[in-house]
Amino acid sequence: MAGWKSEALFKKSKEIMPGGVNSPVRAFRAVNQNPVFIERAKGSKIYDVDGSEYTDYVCSWGPGILGHADSRVIEAVKKACNNGLTFGAPTEKEYVLASIIQELVPSMEMLRLVNSGTEAVMSAIRAARGFTGRDKIIKFRGCYHGHSDGLLVKAGSGALTQSVPDSLGVPEGCTESTLVAEYNDILSVKSLFKKYGSGIAAVIVEPVAANMGVVPPVPGFLEGLREITKQYKSILIFDEVITGFRLAKGGAQEYFGIVPDITVLGKIAGGGMPLAVYGGRRDIMEMVAPLGGVYQAGTLSGNPVAVTAGIETLKILKDDNDIYNKIEENTTKIRLAAEKAFGSSVCVSQAGSLMSVFFTEEKVTDYVTAVSSDTEKYAMYFDYMLKNRIYIAPSQFEAMFISAAHTDEDIERTCYIIKQAAELLKSYMGMC
Ligand SMILES: *Cc1c(COP(=O)(O)O)cnc(C)c1O
Repeated sequence: MAGWKSEALFKKSKEIMPGGVNSPVRAFRAVNQNPVFIERAKGSKIYDVDGSEYTDYVCSWGPGILGHADSRVIEAVKKACNNGLTFGAPTEKEYVLASIIQELVPSMEMLRLVNSGTEAVMSAIRAARGFTGRDKIIKFRGCYHGHSDGLLVKAGSGALTQSVPDSLGVPEGCTESTLVAEYNDILSVKSLFKKYGSGIAAVIVEPVAANMGVVPPVPGFLEGLREITKQYKSILIFDEVITGFRLAKGGAQEYFGIVPDITVLGKIAGGGMPLAVYGGRRDIMEMVAPLGGVYQAGTLSGNPVAVTAGIETLKILKDDNDIYNKIEENTTKIRLAAEKAFGSSVCVSQAGSLMSVFFTEEKVTDYVTAVSSDTEKYAMYFDYMLKNRIYIAPSQFEAMFISAAHTDEDIERTCYIIKQAAELLKSYMGMC
């Protein structure tokens, strides 16, 4: 529940920014509430303007793998600020960050730094199209790749190949080259390749879908994508904006052992600052300007302050051999607690330190089963958690992020509150 300062700020903000926010999901609309305004954060906790402390499982939607305001990152960023905020010229730090990324994700033989995941995905697709000389791309229903025109598409009902824009203001011409397949359904991909094979530049996928709630890949799905893209000389793009540096040091490609042609990184890569990356096979990346004819540029790309936050964050992850085991174990504890508390009335999914509680009795494997969830029950669950000072995503279709800053005490209390939430929902909403 938002306190009175949050309410007042929200009222004023709504007059000057659409919905009072700078990114839609922050508005808490999916749970019929008003947002809490955040003043500061440290470790596993965030604090709102009314003085309430929450254990945070949103983690800024993914970047916060170390928790908030890690002192090592903050000190380095402060130092970098003193040297100037932007130069528009190359720096040694850009080389350092690129080298660390390359070491952790070896399939990125060459890479480029940009400012947002949206921009990185857009550029990756341009490079794939430039390299193959083909226009069509395949994306999966329920996967999110930022808000660029050509990717704001899910399938029109029943007709998988009919690419209707999800947003007003997107001309049909922008999405006619976007084909939509079903996540975890390799046959839906095969049939598109059969029909359009020689015209398909790339397949783009979240190796673990995390923008329709968390939906892990079924065995064979990523392997199948690797195989069919090779067969048709299409480019396989892993959008690892969430999974990169989260599932493992080398992201989902290391976790599952599947190597894509192009990788997109974001969120954790910038350590909390605006920074994203695209890169991959050398022969593809050599198409990018000024080497090749694929144009892509950015005034603030490789910004020294953002790059510093990225370097410090990735260094910590690189040198720590416990983090990934610890956050996955803690996530497993929460998953088991949710499964025990709710029983078969929910489907709890987990991949590494990502998880979701879907309020459906179906096994969630794709978009259709994900949206079978009862979002009203999720709203009640969210409300109970927030009232008990546990901050989870204000939407059924987002991930819960567990960070290295979450303490045993945080995890224990979270499991306990989930148990209470389940009891409440059962008694009030007749969940069995
Ligand atoms: C967040 C996200 C993006 C977009 O990144 P922005 O920095 O918000 O533009 C793209 N792909 C995936 C998988 C994401 O989760």
